[in-house]
Amino acid sequence: MFTHKKDIFFDLDHTIWDFDKNAEETLHELYFKFKFDDLFQQQTADRFIEVYTVNNHRVWDLYHHGKIDKATLRKLRFADTFTQLGVDPDLFPSSFEDEYLAICPTKTNLFPHAIETLDYLKDKYSLHLISNGFKEACQSKLQHSKLGPYFKTIVISEIYGVNKPDPRIFEYALDNGKAAKESSIMIGDNIDADVRGAQNVGMDAIFFNPIGVQKPKDINNMIIDLKELQQLF
Ligand SMILES: [Mg+2]
Repeated sequence: MFTHKKDIFFDLDHTIWDFDKNAEETLHELYFKFKFDDLFQQQTADRFIEVYTVNNHRVWDLYHHGKIDKATLRKLRFADTFTQLGVDPDLFPSSFEDEYLAICPTKTNLFPHAIETLDYLKDKYSLHLISNGFKEACQSKLQHSKLGPYFKTIVISEIYGVNKPDPRIFEYALDNGKAAKESSIMIGDNIDADVRGAQNVGMDAIFFNPIGVQKPKDINNMIIDLKELQQLF
């Protein structure tokens, strides 16, 4: 169906690298290391992780739309979680954030069939990455998960200076990857940043939808498992 394509651009977080699972593993470890079980009077990390995950998605959405900066994103996601769990956010230990940022990107949980699908695609197509992540975190994830070698070019929004869905980052990634938009396609989990962002510059796009949200009417292509790409390409 897309066998006429030459260049495939992937998103990283929530598309190849299982952000939620890796974050959850890290938070679970740190919850007990920092004795949050005493602080919150809760013997499991479940509630903390649940509230944090909602806050994290919310602040990333604000960041994607350019409404907050990186420092505010990192501060708010934990401060708001403390407040909502009824604990003074001033009690949040500053080294928790540093440890979280150091450990989380070293986690290596990927979405099912990620490696076998990249292995399948890499010989037939040029693969590229466009991530809205932060420079150090992104590089650490690629290194620890051994993903770097799959990609001919890697564009990280923090280095380039604007985030998806800004058309400039797609135009730059196409130029940088020596790819024509007609023969390129973007695959990502974020409808606005990845799918509509790519479509706005004239690229095709596939919505990666592993949690099965309702497909918006203007989105044509959707997969729920990365292995479907082995049929489509
Ligand atoms: Mg993503």
